[in-house]
Amino acid sequence: MTGSIQTLPTEVVNLIAAGEVIDSLAAVVRELVENALDAGATRIAVAVWFDLWRVRVADNGTGMDLTDLQKAASAHSTSKIQSCDDLYKITSLGFRGEALHSIAALAELEICSRQTGFEGWRCTYNTQGEAEETEAVAIAPGTVVTVSNLFGKWRLRRQGLPSRSQQQRIIQATIQNIAICHPSVTWQVQHSDRSWFTISPGQTTQQIIPQLLKQVRVHDLQQLTLDVPTPEEGKKGTQETKEFTYNSTPKTRHGASLHLVLGLPDRCHRRRPDWVKVATNGRLVRSPELEQTILTAMAKTLPRDRYPICFIHLQICPSQIDWNRHPAKAEIYLHSLSYWQEQISQAIEKALRIGAENFDTASQSHRVGKLLTASAKKGVYHLDESPKQERNPSDIGLIELKAVAQVRNMYILAEHDTGMWLIEQHIAHERVLYEQLCDRWQLVPLEPPVILNHLTPVQLEQLQRIGLEIEPFGDQMWAVRNAPALLHQRDDCADALLELSLGGDLQNAQVATACRSAIRNGTPLTLDQMQTLLNQWKMTRHPRTCPHGRPIYLPLEESALARFFRRHWVIGKSHGI
Ligand code: ADP
Ligand code: MG
Repeated sequence: MTGSIQTLPTEVVNLIAAGEVIDSLAAVVRELVENALDAGATRIAVAVWFDLWRVRVADNGTGMDLTDLQKAASAHSTSKIQSCDDLYKITSLGFRGEALHSIAALAELEICSRQTGFEGWRCTYNTQGEAEETEAVAIAPGTVVTVSNLFGKWRLRRQGLPSRSQQQRIIQATIQNIAICHPSVTWQVQHSDRSWFTISPGQTTQQIIPQLLKQVRVHDLQQLTLDVPTPEEGKKGTQETKEFTYNSTPKTRHGASLHLVLGLPDRCHRRRPDWVKVATNGRLVRSPELEQTILTAMAKTLPRDRYPICFIHLQICPSQIDWNRHPAKAEIYLHSLSYWQEQISQAIEKALRIGAENFDTASQSHRVGKLLTASAKKGVYHLDESPKQERNPSDIGLIELKAVAQVRNMYILAEHDTGMWLIEQHIAHERVLYEQLCDRWQLVPLEPPVILNHLTPVQLEQLQRIGLEIEPFGDQMWAVRNAPALLHQRDDCADALLELSLGGDLQNAQVATACRSAIRNGTPLTLDQMQTLLNQWKMTRHPRTCPHGRPIYLPLEESALARFFRRHWVIGKSHGI
């Protein structure tokens, strides 16, 4: 930030996306809160009075001196940029100098502000945004902006707005979306003088999400921060970009950083893709391309029709982002899009594998302890309906897992250094086969061909789409001349091919093939066979869930077992002495 407020020169104004930004109470909240964050606030109180069309935002940021306070609502006046060049170095949320000016035109605006060590001032503005009344006030350092009677002279615009409850939801979502990008801020939100919700600060977004999604706990989430090089094509002119990260978010020097918070697929997912979120430099943005990258990277780790919880925050050199695609800055032009897509895919891949550094034994023991207590109560061991499960103690691939027994011809009991796991044999094998198929979808000749009857044109087309050679073979009969390598020697090859003809893309065909070929539950296995399966499974890319999204293993860590068996009790006491 450059200091005092100045009017932007016309050539800069001409480069800025114009458009109406104040279209609702939620937009007022967004603009005022962004100003508070730009002023370095760590505590922000928002109050909304729907009946009065009033919003008040109070912050503990830097505040303004009297001169700035009087200029704050004039047209195109900002302290954040000055010249055209500055448009490529934006590190603040605001830069157009238009929000307060528009608000003054559409509502009654009052701002009280005080810089530490100076006197505080209160100022009101006319509809042109010129300061009207000014007087000294006693307030804490920071700024309190009150906007009242929004659209009071524009009744038609009020009528065009959604219902009050919908507006309430939009305001809540607005604040939450900003909060996940600024985790170190404390939020207190009221409506009609009553407490509405609060958000406590956290070190990262991992601590914020569980406050917003009640069913999600901190340890259901995996987080990862990666330093990534700035892509070549956008590097020109960025040499002096020393530090562009926004306020409290992790700092990198010359490169960019990618912060990822991911709901572990065996623990949490959603009915809608409403928690697939991307932020760049402190602001959530809509990016269909990057959102699709997330969905693709998480494909086949979640149950059907379920969506991940995934938040990606890119801290990118400002020269790589053009905010002038959308008046409310909800969409951006991002340079080197495919580069960022690749970075995101890799980060998700990494997070799903999990490093030992992220493991939290305490929380895990607690959860297993609870699971055991629940199962003891029910009298039978019960893997409940919820997809929640315990996390493995470190990178699964690095754990020495030793098969010790097969239970009910269904589970492999494996031991390792700090506990034991139950692995369901069918889905573990399914995960192995599925990844093999994705890596190498191999079709081999069928001799003699498999004959299928009564195929519809749609089925025929489907089989051809996944690469099968198929030709008419008499009345209502077709000869299939090749098949996926995994299926071709199976007795039920014809059934499997029929199943594949029923639809889906190649990926679904691979899932169906893996499922059909995997060891059935109920099949006895030798220790050697189990060991081979464990070794293959733990090296898969997504060992937690099968391609349908079911959890594959249940860990029973020693720490949790010790607690369950009360091993910490004094021996004499537990023997009743
Ligand atoms: P912009 O944020 O694009 O600069 P605004 O109209 O939102 O434009 O704000 C105009 C100016 O008023 C800002 O550049 C900033 O200097 C000052 N300002 C607004 N809100 C605050 C605040 N809460 N604390 C300190 N200064 C503020
Ligand atoms: Mg602003």
